[in-house]
Amino acid sequence: MTMKYADIIVDISHENLDRTYQYSIPVELAEQAVIGALAVVPFGKGNRLIKGYIVQVSNVPKWREDLIKPIYQIVDDGLVIESQLIQLAYWIKETFGSTMNDALKTVIPVKKSVKAKEKKTVKLAVPTEKASEHLKLFKAKNNKGRVRLLEELIEEDAIDYDVVLHKLNIARTTIQDLEKFGIITIEAERLYRNPIQKDAMDKEQVHLTEEQQGIVDSIIKEYRKNIRNTYLIHGVTGSGKTEVYMEIIADVIKQGKQVIMLIPEIALTYQTVMRFYKRFGDRISIMNSRLSQGERYDQYLRAKKGDIDIMIGPRSALFTPFSNLGLIIIDEEHEGTYKSENPPKYHAREVAIKRGQLSDASVILGSATPSLESYKNAIEGKYKLFTLQSRIGKSIMPKIWIVDLREELKKRNKSIFSIKLKELVEDRLRKNQQIMLFINRRGYAGFVSCRSCGHVMKCPHCDISLTAHNNGTLLCHYCGYSEKAPVKCPSCGSPYIAAFGTGTQKVEDMVKKEFPGARVLRMDMDTTKNKDSHEKILSAFANGEADILVGTQMIVKGHDFPMVTLVGILAADLSLYAADYRASERTYQLLAQASGRAGRSHLPGEVVIQSYQPDHYSIKSASEDDYLGFYKQEMAYRELLKYPPAAHILAILTASKDENKALTAAELISGAANDWTAKEGISEEVVIIGPAAASLAKANDIYRFMIYIKGSDYDLLVAIKDYLEGYINYSEHFNGCNVQFDFNPMNS
Ligand code: ADP
Ligand code: ZN
Ligand code: ZN
Repeated sequence: MTMKYADIIVDISHENLDRTYQYSIPVELAEQAVIGALAVVPFGKGNRLIKGYIVQVSNVPKWREDLIKPIYQIVDDGLVIESQLIQLAYWIKETFGSTMNDALKTVIPVKKSVKAKEKKTVKLAVPTEKASEHLKLFKAKNNKGRVRLLEELIEEDAIDYDVVLHKLNIARTTIQDLEKFGIITIEAERLYRNPIQKDAMDKEQVHLTEEQQGIVDSIIKEYRKNIRNTYLIHGVTGSGKTEVYMEIIADVIKQGKQVIMLIPEIALTYQTVMRFYKRFGDRISIMNSRLSQGERYDQYLRAKKGDIDIMIGPRSALFTPFSNLGLIIIDEEHEGTYKSENPPKYHAREVAIKRGQLSDASVILGSATPSLESYKNAIEGKYKLFTLQSRIGKSIMPKIWIVDLREELKKRNKSIFSIKLKELVEDRLRKNQQIMLFINRRGYAGFVSCRSCGHVMKCPHCDISLTAHNNGTLLCHYCGYSEKAPVKCPSCGSPYIAAFGTGTQKVEDMVKKEFPGARVLRMDMDTTKNKDSHEKILSAFANGEADILVGTQMIVKGHDFPMVTLVGILAADLSLYAADYRASERTYQLLAQASGRAGRSHLPGEVVIQSYQPDHYSIKSASEDDYLGFYKQEMAYRELLKYPPAAHILAILTASKDENKALTAAELISGAANDWTAKEGISEEVVIIGPAAASLAKANDIYRFMIYIKGSDYDLLVAIKDYLEGYINYSEHFNGCNVQFDFNPMNS
């Protein structure tokens, strides 16, 4: 039997994650010495025994074998949360392709870099009579400061340190002296910064509808029988999903378990947090990117100590070190922000399910527009599917108008507002109701379309929109195909064919011009750069300080605006032709979510969807609120072109300041992938596409190229990645070039 070796971290803190020590694994410990296990090892010259976690196991000694010490013992304590998180890190590394160090840094919280605030109290250290004796002495010596402090302490027995210092005006040295004499003590109690400010708590609880109660009962029943599962709740916006989550959470907590609730950052508003706070009080904590590192670390400590039961936050909250985790909820599970953009490029949904397995927790996914991945899993029985059919109470789904922008051109209306939209905007302004105008800019990279017939220029190989470049060519960012930009529409011959572009700023200007009396607010990347600006704009609009809110996808979620009765989607096509195979799915989601903003109260809502492609199934099915119809069409498309979830894609990015280097690297990788798959006899099972310039071809002066490898077998793609990693490590051609792997990318 060959000797095995373990890399061990003896200090599990963020700064020291890359400092590992290698030990040999004695044969009798081979079974226990797995990744994540807590080992006792002899350390340093004196060989004192210390504990450490195993983060890697291999057959290769890193130096002379006789110098490598053996592990002394494995502590069998399956409950240690660090062990679970290290196992999770290893799984992330294996599944999403990153270094173990990047994976560990993702799951282990950053230790605070700022000092925690302390609440200090000054107290008498001696009985009162004794203190009075001292007091007499100090009076005699005319020690005014000491006298004042002692007099106060005899009266109060404990006073806040800051009060002593600033209100009683006692010098620091005076306090220190009395402490030295043993007359007083200073007690420090660590204050955990709690980002939630206490508000009046009123536990108003709704009475669940039959539909809601049915879901709650089924999930709780399984949970109590110790059945752990992944559930998908498909329910339109406003159908009461959050109430369902809260009811289930309450039951899980009652059993002494803890809960992680993931919410996209953008939806993590004051309103959402307050709903949870009202129900669960300060047993909840929140995590968001606006918290300082110290505040975040404190939240982790509180979770570890068992001071909280529920952690609410974005992707990173998934790694909250709860030792008795019972449930993970992912709200709006279709959101792209659940996929990490940095290595390890993990998807929170997959990691949540894995963490659930390691920690014996169930997972609930919720969405009005489930991702194709999740819905497919639900249909195939991997997840349990529940549906909430109707909105709560009096609010009904809005009436939806689809406007064909090609017709507008025929009617000589060159404005970005269709005749229908203009008419309805004016109507709402007269009635003092509110309007949201939505323009989607995400993923939009200058697709070229005909304003007369709606024809869009696409890659003949990939069925992805071609992107206009300054040099007069159109380019496919998947396979590198290019052609000259047309001067006439190849479909109808019209000269009105060009790259499409309308920004939020431009829309705001147009609104002001067309509706001079209206008060307008704009929300996009530019107007939300400051810390609380996002919240401020939304509250201003909620308070009726404006009639029209113009914005990007940011305005689609978050607040409830009861006075909004009209939503205008100015160019539904923008997201439809993003250079990305998920474009139709994203369009469906955006339209459904945007429509969900209209008519949230007793006032009925209307939605106007403007499009050059009104017959496109994304737009049609969104307007008919027909998710299943959309799913079937889109799935057929993915099957046909072998896009996820019908198959898997491994995206490989090469990036370098030197364009030539990045391109050469991409060519070498593509060549190596072709050679290796041929050699292994698996070239039939994968399709290797590219290299081509990335859709973000140059960022911060760094050139970027992509290779895509498609295949039905995920493990096969992982094997190819492993091979390529080795190939890259042993070749000098990749110096000065960054290579990143991304499985089933969401943002390219
Ligand atoms: P979703 O999360 O699906 O968008 P919410 O849970 O936010 O839906 O519910 C929408 C609104 O309806 C909220 O204001 C919520 O308080 C209210 N609501 C939910 N369920 C009920 C119920 N059973 N009875 C009364 N109001 C409810
Ligand atoms: Zn045309
Ligand atoms: Zn192509």
